[in-house]
Amino acid sequence: MNNIADTSDTTPTAPSFSREGATPMMMQFLEIKEQYQDCLLFYRMGDFYELFFDDAVKAAEALDIALTKRGKHQGNEIPMAGVPVHSHETYLQRLIRKGFRVAVCEQMEDPAEAKKRGAKSVVKRGVVRLITPGTLTEDSLLDARRHNYLAAVSEVRGKVGLAWLDMSTGDFFVQPCDMAGLPAALARLDPGEILFSEKMLNRADVFDIYAEYKNIITPQPTARFDAENAQLRLKKLYQVEALDAFGGFEIAELSAAGALIDYVDLTQKGQMPRLSPPTRVAEGAAMEIDAATRRSLELIQTQSGERKGSLLSVIDRTRTGAGARLLAARLSAPLTNAEEVNKRLDLVEYFHDRDALRSDLRAALGECPDIERALSRLSVGRGGPRDLAAMRDGLSCSFAIGNLLAKPDGGNDGLTTQPEALGDHLTAMGHHGDLIDLLRRAMSENLPLLARDGGFIAGGYHPPLDELRMLSSESKKLIANLQARYTEQTGISNLKVKHNNVLGYFIEVSAKTADKMMEEDEFIHRQTMANAVRFTTVELSELESKVSKAGDQALALELELFEELVAAVLTKADAIAKCAQALAGLDVSAALAELARDQGCVRPNIDNSLAFDIRGGRHPVVEAALRENGDSPFVANDCRLEDEQSLWLITGPNMAGKSTFLRQNALIAVLAQIGAFVPAAKAHIGVIDRLFSRVGAADDLARGRSTFMVEMVETASILNQATDRSLVILDEIGRGTATFDGLSIAWAVVENLHEINQCRGLFATHYHELTALAAKLAHLSCHTMLIKEWQGEVVFLHEVGAGSADRSYGIHVAQLAGLPKPVIKRAEQVLKTLEKGEQGGAVSKLADDLPLFAVAIEQAAKEERASTPSLSDGQKALLDAVADLDPDNMTPREALDALYRLRALKD
Ligand code: ATP
Repeated sequence: MNNIADTSDTTPTAPSFSREGATPMMMQFLEIKEQYQDCLLFYRMGDFYELFFDDAVKAAEALDIALTKRGKHQGNEIPMAGVPVHSHETYLQRLIRKGFRVAVCEQMEDPAEAKKRGAKSVVKRGVVRLITPGTLTEDSLLDARRHNYLAAVSEVRGKVGLAWLDMSTGDFFVQPCDMAGLPAALARLDPGEILFSEKMLNRADVFDIYAEYKNIITPQPTARFDAENAQLRLKKLYQVEALDAFGGFEIAELSAAGALIDYVDLTQKGQMPRLSPPTRVAEGAAMEIDAATRRSLELIQTQSGERKGSLLSVIDRTRTGAGARLLAARLSAPLTNAEEVNKRLDLVEYFHDRDALRSDLRAALGECPDIERALSRLSVGRGGPRDLAAMRDGLSCSFAIGNLLAKPDGGNDGLTTQPEALGDHLTAMGHHGDLIDLLRRAMSENLPLLARDGGFIAGGYHPPLDELRMLSSESKKLIANLQARYTEQTGISNLKVKHNNVLGYFIEVSAKTADKMMEEDEFIHRQTMANAVRFTTVELSELESKVSKAGDQALALELELFEELVAAVLTKADAIAKCAQALAGLDVSAALAELARDQGCVRPNIDNSLAFDIRGGRHPVVEAALRENGDSPFVANDCRLEDEQSLWLITGPNMAGKSTFLRQNALIAVLAQIGAFVPAAKAHIGVIDRLFSRVGAADDLARGRSTFMVEMVETASILNQATDRSLVILDEIGRGTATFDGLSIAWAVVENLHEINQCRGLFATHYHELTALAAKLAHLSCHTMLIKEWQGEVVFLHEVGAGSADRSYGIHVAQLAGLPKPVIKRAEQVLKTLEKGEQGGAVSKLADDLPLFAVAIEQAAKEERASTPSLSDGQKALLDAVADLDPDNMTPREALDALYRLRALKD
């Protein structure tokens, strides 16, 4: 387990090995390393970050870079590996993905300063930042389209508090929770890193959570979760006297939020990023979807962990990174408040009905850079000129979008009233004219990545800078003129004035002509090369010093101006963050409207009833896959879980589309409650508080659970938690054990769902015996996947009809899957005998009554031979001739001749 050593309030742990006899530099390294034992230490040496000892071995292996040696420590060679500073982010990304944490140790002074203290003095160094999976801000380390949350869980007096923030955007939330709801809440957030107090990790009921998230859990000393301190920290951060203005928080929530702030402070070494005040998410505000359900429904990623093939990948039409992040966050947390859902739907409908407006809005959004992340980088001092430009361009986009949306309504319905959500977004976007104007005047066209490279302030913005630049460029011109003068003066035609980083400006002539230069006092010899000799002059040196002085001064001035501009942006940080969120909201609404247009989706009717009435529903992902593969179109199906049929029992052959039908109804519910139009002809849904889906399972070897055990654990959690507002989707419960055990469990589960949970539900099964329950349970109704038998073949219609199936056609599917013919034949014999035996009550005599496998195979082979007509000599010759053809080595002419020959053989 990883941990970040606390450097402020704990005694340093013992060094991993003694420092005796270490060189002064190694001594410094070991002292620093001692404080960050659980991180790889990136130790800055000039243009490289070097790693030593074990860190070097681990990094070399993880990054596949050379492991070298540098000197000796106590008689042993010191392993060393290094990465160049200019490309270190690529390496960091790989290390973070592999679960490492990195402490970045910089040189805190110029090496020249150190030299002044004595030749052997070591440059001062210090750790400036700890890089952990939950505290990333660099674009190169982050996925632009996903949030990266750092979460903290706390428990105070039996109440659980959850807090989470995204350092790269400044979003900050807290939520009350209970232990039972914690796994679902964490599954919803899918955090990059979770902080737990050491005390809490020792609890038995946290074991499962620990097993699920052990790679991203960072245990923290329990003292860091102290609620009193947490309040002080929050008050200090937001500079308020009381936290009431942000909402009423429970003590456990404050404790979790405080631990987060503390950790950010620790990892950023005091450089706090901009964080929005914590927003409280009420318990039950989001549809509860546990981890197993999320996995089975493949909302954000597929079961194999990929984005492609997930619901998100199919519905995401957003044009901006912030929009994509918001859509993913909404998909993870569908709302349970019908009013809120309808407010979102109003806006989607507004854009849905206005093609021209939507298209203009989406085009404008496409130009909008990620101002959320740029703002966050600027706030932690990691921003560059391009982040300022992103701010300028993003805010300009927001201005243009504000104008576009405020124009007289161009809608089809001629209504001029705007949906409430649109008004809210327009207000939140605010006015940033002054800042846009400032940044437009200040920033030049082509921008370097780093401020220290200079050249990013536009000419005319700051006259003193213009003067310095003029001085520098005038001197450069004079230097260029010198070349012409010296050439004329010496008569050496190939004389050149050049520049490099070591000598600065110099005069270069070929070795042959150098003697002539040596004779003249004006030229001072600097260097002799194989073919060339280099000189300087007093005049050249003076000009050079003017250039470099002016250059240095200009750069220093630019850096000052950069800081001023950053400060100007940061004073507006909260307003900019609100604007960014509003743009993301508009992006999501317009994207969902686009999707609805594209895919023929309708606005669902969402209210507080217990309705679930889907007409002509479709599975968005399967439908998209069928379309992509050019297969036959998706067959739409109705699903009405109401009154006397709130629980559907679905039977039908394998491969007939049961799982697809089950999942599509769950997905439609999720889409409806995030405020999206749904793939159906009509939909009416009374809000669902919890969604459970158990469709297909895999074993969980990590936790030592078999497939059947996993299935039972998940079923138990459904039966314990589902309410009459929940939607439960269960597929083939009980199939992983002996037939009668499985049937009995499935039977009892249906009864429980019906009698106790009283939820809306779909229950698919191959136990046809369960259909008998319909006569007994008032709200249970039987449905089946329709098929057609045609010339001995089974045709799947993918249509759901009333009634029940009489058989599963499993052997037919096995045949489609390519099981060897003898096995299929044998299975058919066994099935026949079983069916007869069941009627006669003699199943146990099965082994006695059936012939042995080998005998059965021989019989089947004989039958096959009898049914296959033997070939005539002519047919055999034709087949041989075809087999002899070698199409790869034939000319078109030869191929045509061969065709004629084959045609002749047929006669
Ligand atoms: P099993 O019982 O073997 O798990 P199943 O009945 O659950 O099978 P699905 O996995 O849902 O069957 O569907 C099998 C395939 O049938 C899907 O991958 C899809 O290609 C196709 N299919 C399912 N439903 C439909 C539909 N409504 N319209 C068109 N094709 C469909």
